[in-house]
Amino acid sequence: MNKHRMTFQRKKILDEMRRYPGHQAAEAIYDRLKAEMPELSLSTVYRSLKGLADIGQVSISDLGDGLVFELINSEPHHHLVCLGCHAVLPLDNAEVTPFFKQIESRGFKIATTHLCLYGYCSACQEKGLFQ
Ligand SMILES: [Zn+2]
Ligand SMILES: [Zn+2]
Repeated sequence: MNKHRMTFQRKKILDEMRRYPGHQAAEAIYDRLKAEMPELSLSTVYRSLKGLADIGQVSISDLGDGLVFELINSEPHHHLVCLGCHAVLPLDNAEVTPFFKQIESRGFKIATTHLCLYGYCSACQEKGLFQ
C-alpha cells in the first residue's frame, strides 16, 4: 500500500466520522464506506483509525462492548462506563478538571481529552453484579 492511498483512506474516514458525531465502531464506519470504496477492508479501517489516533485526530476508548472511535474536538468529554450493562454515562468536565489540575500541579501535563472510568451503575449494583 503506498503512502498516497493511505492518506486518501484516512481522509475519507475522517470525512465520514464528521458526518456522525459521537462514538463510532470501526465496523460501522466500514459498513458506511464499503459501497463507495469496494477495495476497503475492515482491517484497513482499524489501521487507519489507529494511525489517526497516533497523530491526535481520533480518540480510542473501550466502552465495555468493543472499541469505539471518536473525533477529537476542542471540548474534552468523559464517561462513566458500566461493566454490567455497558451503559455509558456522562462525566462532567467540571468534575474532572479539579482532579486534572491537582495532578498538573505536580508538573505532569495531561493530554487525555476522553477519560473513561469503569464501574457498575446503581441498577447493576442492585442486581448484585458488583462483586
Ligand atoms: Zn466519548
Ligand atoms: Zn449497569
